[in-house]
Amino acid sequence: MTEQIKILLNGAAGKMGRAMAAGILGEADMQLVGAVDRSCIGCDIGELSGGVAIGVKVSDDLAASVKRCGADVMLDFTTPEAVMRNIRTALSAGLPCVVGTTGLTAADLEEAEALALANDAPLFVAPNFALTAVLMMRFAAEAAKYFPHYEIIEIHNDRKMDAPSGTALYTAQMIGREREPFAQGALNSFETLPGCRGGDYQGARIHSVRLPGVVAIQEVLFGGPGQMLSIRQDSTNRDCFFPGVALALRRIRSLHGLVQGLEKLL
Ligand code: NAD
Repeated sequence: MTEQIKILLNGAAGKMGRAMAAGILGEADMQLVGAVDRSCIGCDIGELSGGVAIGVKVSDDLAASVKRCGADVMLDFTTPEAVMRNIRTALSAGLPCVVGTTGLTAADLEEAEALALANDAPLFVAPNFALTAVLMMRFAAEAAKYFPHYEIIEIHNDRKMDAPSGTALYTAQMIGREREPFAQGALNSFETLPGCRGGDYQGARIHSVRLPGVVAIQEVLFGGPGQMLSIRQDSTNRDCFFPGVALALRRIRSLHGLVQGLEKLL
């Protein structure tokens, strides 16, 4: 039998945490050895994820769990406020990390990369683990070569903390490599209701919609004389993220320093 990847799941009681736990428990080459969250402490992660008890209880002490459970990798789906602290704790202990939590700033990533290198513990970060989302971003970057006028509309559930979404920002950054910055729209345009035109990224606009019941949707709209192109991706449930997460968990030990974006592993 091949050696199992031992995983410490952080944010285990959250929507993504539970979905990822269910996915991990279904893989023969993976073992869930630790579960951390600030809620559901003491609950069995097997039961929390909709299955049977596996004897791994949720703890609220990441540092102690890192020491105790002998994990090969930490998987983090927590919150923008918590994620840097978690990354520091894991990397400083030499534990590689796969991070899906969004909201990391450029300064955060710079600090995390230095930590990953100093501790010889790789860090993989992706704003979106769904393959259709990766393709949507790739196609959008391609379209921007021909249609530099674009706007992004991203829709997420109303509990989401950060805006714009990590995927929207990452898409804009990918497009930014194909398009010179310029201010779109009429020169003297103004807003009668502040914020209506969305966030400005190098002159293009990003609109963040927050509604109950949504998992994740993103549409990138391109306009040119007499034509419009719309590239849209829908995540209808959280199952779409696990294949990408599993790929990152299987590849993490072969990476070096900071690697960003699922497209780098495909
Ligand atoms: P959620 O609110 O359902 O879950 C977050 C969990 O983190 C909660 O259970 C919370 O108690 C826990 N938590 C908060 N602070 C903590 C701490 N200090 N230590 C341990 N646990 C802590 O949110 P969610 O929908 O599961 O999303 C989690 C993150 O994943 C968000 O940043 C979201 O944007 C991101 N996300 C990424 C992808 C992707 O493909 N990369 C996909 C979906 C969601």
